[in-house]
Amino acid sequence: MWNCKDIEKLKRDLPLLGYLKRFNWTARRVGSGQEYVGLCLLHTETRPSFHVNAAKNLFYCHGCGYGGDLIRFVQVYFDLSFRDSVAHLVKEWTQTASDDDLLGDTVAFYQYQLNRHQEALDYLNQRGLRDPELYRQLGLGYAPGCSLREHLLSVCGHRFDRLAALGLINQQGRDSFFRRIMFPCLDQGRIVNLYGRSIGQPPPHRFLPHAKGGLVAWETLRGAPSVILVEGLFDLAVLWQAGFRNTTSALGCHLTADQFTQLSDDPGRQVFIAFDSDANAAGQRAASRLALQLHKAGLQARILRLPDGHDPNSFFVSGASATDFTRCLEEAR
Ligand SMILES: [Zn+2]
Repeated sequence: MWNCKDIEKLKRDLPLLGYLKRFNWTARRVGSGQEYVGLCLLHTETRPSFHVNAAKNLFYCHGCGYGGDLIRFVQVYFDLSFRDSVAHLVKEWTQTASDDDLLGDTVAFYQYQLNRHQEALDYLNQRGLRDPELYRQLGLGYAPGCSLREHLLSVCGHRFDRLAALGLINQQGRDSFFRRIMFPCLDQGRIVNLYGRSIGQPPPHRFLPHAKGGLVAWETLRGAPSVILVEGLFDLAVLWQAGFRNTTSALGCHLTADQFTQLSDDPGRQVFIAFDSDANAAGQRAASRLALQLHKAGLQARILRLPDGHDPNSFFVSGASATDFTRCLEEAR
């Protein structure tokens, strides 16, 4: 039987806010603290009255009156006894911990491969990235294909069914990522997904079939008075390299509800949107839509216009300097 200390550890390792995301719970931040509000998962409602205090790890619904900790939530949601709720959570927690290890081992393997494959380093050079320290800060790696599965099963002792369940291997049992630059997607410090940029065969972008996580490096730059939001990982990398460390990315031009909550949680923040100025104007359309949403949330948003056909990465690769980019920031609408 579990004692109080074990139960406190369980609740720390499975924070309520993160746990609710499994039920696709979306919320907005209220006030300046760690308080979130969204629609209640325990009763039907149209106006949000379900509050979560992330610091205290507790919830309370003003609609149905239920409130308490993670175990209380599981009791009410699944209609279980206290004892069965703990057993249910322990099972999920064990699974989560071993999947976290599996993704951690995968990322470490990819990082080890990066310097051993000239084709990967050549590709990074071609995208304007030459600094090994930057590779390390971003956690970049390389998936050569054909060797991850063997490593995870034989060397690390992971289970085949978990590799398949997480999408690391495909239906034929082969590595899902083949000849791709790899990047770990984090959510509150945990690796929750992997992004792979192909250096050869299409499709250019590939993720594991899970939620893509939060804004890139958000924990390190959320306090900045202004942030630059870009579409791609390589846009972010060249800007970091040029000294614009307040750059983040949603890995795409459409933000998830969680990423939007992160970006808009401080009304004093100014957001520069630097999406692609591509021929079909999809990037610019997405930028206008997002700017409007941010204005509605009370933030100042400005859209950068790069020379036609450019994204921040190609702008720097074509010879632009930090001064050129600063001018684009100053001229942003
Ligand atoms: Zn409720």
